[in-house]
Amino acid sequence: MKIAVLAGDGIGPEVTAQAMRVLDALRLPELTVFEGDVGGIAYQRHGHPLPPETLTMAREADAVLFGAVGDPACDNLERHLRPEQAILGLRSELGLFANLRPACAMPGLEGLSALRPEIASKIDLLIVRELNGDVYFGDKGTRTQADGTREGWDMMSYDEAEVRRIAHVAFRAAQGRNGRLCSVDKANVLETSQLWRDVMIEAAADYPGVDLSHMYVDNAAMQLVRAPGQFDVIVTGNLFGDILSDQASMCVGSIGLLASAALGERQTQYGTFGLYEPIHGSAPDIAGQGNANPMATILSAAMMLRHSFGREDDAARIEAAITAALDHGVRGFDLGGSAGTVDIGDAVLARL
Ligand code: ATP
Ligand code: MG
Repeated sequence: MKIAVLAGDGIGPEVTAQAMRVLDALRLPELTVFEGDVGGIAYQRHGHPLPPETLTMAREADAVLFGAVGDPACDNLERHLRPEQAILGLRSELGLFANLRPACAMPGLEGLSALRPEIASKIDLLIVRELNGDVYFGDKGTRTQADGTREGWDMMSYDEAEVRRIAHVAFRAAQGRNGRLCSVDKANVLETSQLWRDVMIEAAADYPGVDLSHMYVDNAAMQLVRAPGQFDVIVTGNLFGDILSDQASMCVGSIGLLASAALGERQTQYGTFGLYEPIHGSAPDIAGQGNANPMATILSAAMMLRHSFGREDDAARIEAAITAALDHGVRGFDLGGSAGTVDIGDAVLARL
């Protein structure tokens, strides 16, 4: 079992180190770990945020554990050299088109949610975000017209095949959960969304047991805070999914808690190849202070064991250890507590 660990920038290395301690403690047989540079640190060392050797390392692994990329020192670089390009490049080069982002109420955190406790306690949803298309990958540019007016554009596009493959991932996920799939789009104004909706309806024919509904993204943003308990699986495009999953994290309690898996079609001898990362970014505002919450990254490692290595029992053990630590009152700064990054790692290890 080969894991490529790409810790990246900011708090990435801090939170990834705790996830690796947890994986080490499981003493998995034949686990080999490779470490590669990615993001701003890779730009500094190799002149590119996604050096070829890092991409090769990721390709040759069975799974990637990713920290975060983003460094304010790189803000003035040309776009293709910015750290954020590394994660976009990995997702597209590795064919990772399906992003699974679970959000579930956690014990004792209802009071910390941005929502009222009786509403927050009902959250148990999975956002399935398309990851290889949409405005992030469309033609983009800026120009200055003759009169000096500046203009910028990002092309939003999806083709049928791209929508169909994410539809099947989402329908299967709904089959394995409570059988309800809500497709989020903006079909009243966007052509891409109308196509999205049509393809979702076509795909539904293969899943008679799944109840498909549709919602406009603006309404979905509202419903997510009004009554998140109504959602089981949400499937949506790259841009809408990015925004809704950050929002969902605050409904649970903190961005420091939510994990994600990016999956494609490639199978290894152990399971589905995937890239696993917390939904948060490099958090430059708190980097180096030792107070980032590593729980999201530890939970991402659990998702890795589940999806890429077929080790459901080990994944569940990690999740139970996180729950037990929270139950015991272990709280990072993001949750109003005082436990630092390493303290939280210690607390989870102690319960493992
Ligand atoms: P990206 O574009 O990569 O998603 P972002 O601009 O959304 O990045 P983040 O890096 O996710 O920004 O940070 C958003 C806020 O959340 C910051 O104030 C940051 O300090 C906080 N934050 C992010 N991750 C954590 C964490 N693990 N623990 C505590 N606070 C965090
Ligand atoms: Mg973000």
